[in-house]
Amino acid sequence: MSRPEITADQSYDVVGLGFGPSNMALATAIHEHNRAVGTEPSLKALFLDRASEPGWHKNLLFEDASMQVAFAKDLASFRNPTSELTFMNFLHTQGRLEDFFNRGSMAPLRIEFVAYLRWAAEQLSDYVRYSSEVVRVVPRTSGGRITGYEVDIADESGVRTVAARHVVLAGGLQPVFPSGVRSGARVWHSAEFLERAAVLDTAAVRSVAVIGGGQSAAEVIEQMYHRCPQAQIHSVISRFGLIPSDASAYANRIFDPLAVDELYAADPQVRQELTEAHRNTNNSVVNPNTIAALYDLEYRDKWLGAQRLNWHRAARVDSVREDYGTPGVQLGLDEGLGDGDGTLEVDVAIFATGYRALDPTTLLGSHAGMLVRDDLGRPTARRDYSAHTVLPDDAKLFLVGQTEHQHGISATLLSNVAVRAGEILDSILAAGTDTAQPSEHRKAHA
Ligand SMILES: Cc1cc2nc3c(=O)[nH]c(=O)nc-3n(C[C@H](O)[C@H](O)[C@H](O)COP(=O)(O)OP(=O)(O)OC[C@H]3O[C@@H](n4cnc5c(N)ncnc54)[C@H](O)[C@@H]3O)c2cc1C
Repeated sequence: MSRPEITADQSYDVVGLGFGPSNMALATAIHEHNRAVGTEPSLKALFLDRASEPGWHKNLLFEDASMQVAFAKDLASFRNPTSELTFMNFLHTQGRLEDFFNRGSMAPLRIEFVAYLRWAAEQLSDYVRYSSEVVRVVPRTSGGRITGYEVDIADESGVRTVAARHVVLAGGLQPVFPSGVRSGARVWHSAEFLERAAVLDTAAVRSVAVIGGGQSAAEVIEQMYHRCPQAQIHSVISRFGLIPSDASAYANRIFDPLAVDELYAADPQVRQELTEAHRNTNNSVVNPNTIAALYDLEYRDKWLGAQRLNWHRAARVDSVREDYGTPGVQLGLDEGLGDGDGTLEVDVAIFATGYRALDPTTLLGSHAGMLVRDDLGRPTARRDYSAHTVLPDDAKLFLVGQTEHQHGISATLLSNVAVRAGEILDSILAAGTDTAQPSEHRKAHA
């Protein structure tokens, strides 16, 4: 894959942090725009990803896991169904159209979706640089207005600065442990699963705890059940049982582009209530097929007199000791049903306790005060996803995947990546693209 070179004095119309589906969709829209307008004027864009290659949630890429979204909610279709970078065109180029549709499911396999992303990334390679971490974003001002940004990029040769007129932060979701819990040799987050499981002596494992009641938790339970045939698997969930995801037609409308308009314009209280009411379309819920597969395992084991799935319901982990000796991890449990408080000793504890969106505060450092925040301290954005800034801005900082509290539940998901990319591109074109140069003092330090 070719790699765009960067030098300290380079400047771009758009610099994007991250090259997951959100910014890949934007790169697709920019690529199509550039081709449509010819060579001049074209948008000069650079996307940076700290990963060494294209990918997507690589530690949860189980071979039989399906996407929770229809194939057409890809990088382009809902913005431009005639794009060359649709999932349909991918299938066509692979000679797999018939195979896919004969299967009778709208949801691709996760491994298939990643193959699609890699294929698309190959065609967008002029725009992306891997192994390049964005470590700082600094606004440039002139006459009391924000006129551009300087972006510090760390790679194998150090830290360099490029100038950007507009910046798009699409860093995705970061794993979250409960307060006081840290990743360790025997305490993992589900986001680390496959790389940790690959070096585990699974035959020797006698007990595993999986904390959480969402899709990742259910998949990890299933994985550990099969990988560790001698092990008792303990599920610690705050509910009575696993709750199925709602993928029904009317509920699904909350992911439509029109819903983003409606939710953005709504009273914040109404928006919050609707988001909570429809959490079960996505968060802390499990695909009914996964629930049925787990129940079948348990049902069969009961008949065989060899039960291995154990449910700790209405339960929370209130302490974790990893230096416990053998078997290794001691979990303090507050159990709402059964014995109340107790302990659970396991070889491995896996926290499938979710994610939170990238926080722009750390990247902005001492400039974080430029963001206008709501009563809860969250950065706020306009409908076009650009941050509300204290100073008037001719250069925009787009917050992608960080504004569920304003744009609704689809903000962190795939459903709207294509349409959102088109909206962001329109906003960039409307705001203007003459590119700023890095300021002299920053150049000296690059
Ligand atoms: C296991 C799992 C399954 C999911 N399945 C679905 C699904 O089926 N349907 C759905 O709609 N959603 C799903 N989601 C939600 C998920 O957020 C979206 O699918 C999608 O990944 C969002 O794309 P993104 O580009 O915003 O973020 P990401 O895909 O997370 O990409 C962000 C990128 O930014 C890079 N990055 C982060 N910080 C920096 C930095 N400082 N410098 C440079 N690069 C950086 C990361 O390396 C990463 O490549 C799933 C999430 C998980 C965890």
